[in-house]
Order: sequence, then structure tokens, then C-alpha cells
Amino acid sequence: MDIQELQSRAKHNEPLSRHTTSRIGGVADLLIETRSVEDLVAVVACADAVRLPCMILGGGANVLISDCGVRGLVVLHRAKDVRFAEQPGGVRVEADAGVMLITLARDCIERGYAGLEWAISVPGTVGGAVVGNAGAHGMDVASNLYGVRVLRRGAGLEAGPEAGLEWWMSQQLQFEYRRSVLKLYAPAVRPIVVSAQFDLKSDSRVDLERRAAEFAARRKASQPPGASLGSMFKNPAGDYAGRLIEACGLKGRRVGGVMISEKHANFFVNTEGDACAADVKALIDLAQREVHDRFGVGLELEVELIGDWEGGDE
Ligand SMILES: Cc1cc2nc3c(=O)[nH]c(=O)nc-3n(C[C@H](O)[C@H](O)[C@H](O)COP(=O)(O)OP(=O)(O)OC[C@H]3O[C@@H](n4cnc5c(N)ncnc54)[C@H](O)[C@@H]3O)c2cc1C
Repeated sequence: MDIQELQSRAKHNEPLSRHTTSRIGGVADLLIETRSVEDLVAVVACADAVRLPCMILGGGANVLISDCGVRGLVVLHRAKDVRFAEQPGGVRVEADAGVMLITLARDCIERGYAGLEWAISVPGTVGGAVVGNAGAHGMDVASNLYGVRVLRRGAGLEAGPEAGLEWWMSQQLQFEYRRSVLKLYAPAVRPIVVSAQFDLKSDSRVDLERRAAEFAARRKASQPPGASLGSMFKNPAGDYAGRLIEACGLKGRRVGGVMISEKHANFFVNTEGDACAADVKALIDLAQREVHDRFGVGLELEVELIGDWEGGDE
């Protein structure tokens, strides 16, 4: 693929608010959907060869994209194959990075495989879940991940369709709470998760469905509906970000079209539909300031800031 072909295939000035769960985010200069590994490799190789900044967006459930948007190319990788290989006592399931985590969890439950029930209500893609070590109810991606196929950036991609593709075992991802080693890279140079393999155990389908229903009910009872980014901050050791924000009296606080949820103070909800990223950032700064002044705790963002921000974050 050459740059002319890439440019003619891409959407130009695409509002990223169409591709995030918060319905917030400025425009991408260029946006392309890829549906296979080969296509992804071709697109990324072309962008890297001409030094066009290029980042992947999954379900947009863990990013706050600035109102200035993203310069260069945003790739929505939508390969969605899932492959099951039975092994003693269970299965090794390989899911393409573009599979929605919720869909994968449901599929595994229906087939009687245990290990991903926690993910039954976690939005976003398998790729995004690996990068941020998504988790809930005491489990996370790291609990069952066997390994991932990644596409390295830059070097040697022009050499062929398999060039730049590597296998990383789970340990190489250095998982921590809501973090993998991949999260430490800037999005424009981060190795791209192409697929992920999970080892799951056989279990009773009825039990799995009951467990998943309990998780879903707990979530419905504690978290607000509507457009949001999920938990804004990581929970500090031994405490909860939501509790600290609530104790500062910030539930219900608004900036523009964004409100700190009355139901759960670690959720910031886009109530108006026309909210902007600057509104969210103002509430982030307010919550961090108040919690620090009152409790001496520095709240760390779980959500990733993408694009240009006045403070120089990316
Ligand atoms: C209502 C709600 C509830 C939530 N509940 C939870 C929860 O219980 N637990 C939890 O952990 N999270 C939760 N989240 C956050 C979110 O669901 C997870 O962080 C999710 O894993 C993000 O996946 P995504 O595909 O949307 O990633 P995105 O937000 O699209 O991307 C996140 C980062 O990963 C990068 N990325 C995405 N795909 C790839 C790829 N294939 N290769 C390399 N980099 C990639 C992006 O460039 C970006 O830097 C919630 C969010 C919402 C809106």
C-alpha cells in the first residue's frame, strides 16, 4: 500500500466522538478500519514508512481524546475471528484484537468455559483490554492470558506480511493493576496487539451463567448508565477513588455537559451529548485537587489522555 492509496481509503477529519463510549473527542486527520492482520500490517507499514503518526483505537472506552483531536492516522482494527482449540480440562481460545471483550466472554460462557465471566459487562475490545489489563470482580486479563501476538512498529515492516509480528508470553507483558508494559509506550509507537490467547477451564454452563448474571447485576446496581469512560481514576492502595471523591462533596458537580455521577463518584457522565474533553479535564483537575488537599492522596488517572493537551500530556 502506498500513501496515496491510504489517503484515498481513509476518512478525513473524522470526529472521534463517534468512536468513544463517552461520545467525546475531536477529529482525527485520517481514520481507517482494518479487518484482517494482513490489512493492518499493510496500513501500519505504510504509515510508519512515511512517518505518518499512527495509533490504534479499540472501543474508545478508556481514552479521553482532546478537543483538538489526533494528528495523523487513527486505525480501528476490527478483525473479529475467535478460534477454540480444546485441551485437557478446557480450551485455549484465541481472539483477534478487534473482538469485543463482552462478546468473547458471552461466547465462552455459552460453550461452558470458565475464566472470563468477570468481563461480561466490560466495554471495549480484546486489544484494549490487554493493554490496560482490564479487570473486575477480583479477576483481570492477566488471570487467564496465555500470550499475545503483537505487531512491532517501524523496523522491517516493509519486508513482508509477517514482518514485525511477534509472539509475547503473558509474563512479558508485565501486568500490574490496570497496566501492562504496552501502556508505557506512547500510542504512536506502541506495539499493536493483533490477537490474544486465553487458557480457560471447562465448567458447568449453568454455574457460569449464574456467576455472570450476578456480576452484571452488581454492576447495574452500582454504576451509572449513559455515556462515560468507566472509572476515571485507579483506586489508591487500600481505598477507593469513588469514596474519596464523594467524601469531598463532589457527587453531582458539573462542568459544561459533564457531571460527576450521583451514583458513583468515580464515573464522569456526558449528560448533554455535547460535552467536550475540556469539561472532563476540568472535573479531573478539580477532583485531583480536592482529594489531595483533603486526604493527601494523589489520584492517578485510569483513563488515558490522547491528543494535544495544554499540559503536554499525550
Ligand atoms: C461503562 C464502563 C465500564 C467500565 N468498566 C470497566 C471495568 O470494570 N474494568 C476495567 O478494567 N475497565 C473498565 N472500563 C474501561 C474500559 O472498558 C477498559 O479499559 C477497556 O479494556 C478498554 O478497551 P478499548 O478497546 O475500549 O480501548 P481503547 O479505549 O480504545 O484504547 C485504550 C488504549 O489501548 C490502545 N489500544 C487499543 N487497542 C489496541 C491494540 N489492539 N493494540 C495496541 N494498543 C491498543 C489505545 O491506543 C489506547 O491507548 C469501563 C469503561 C466503561 C465506559
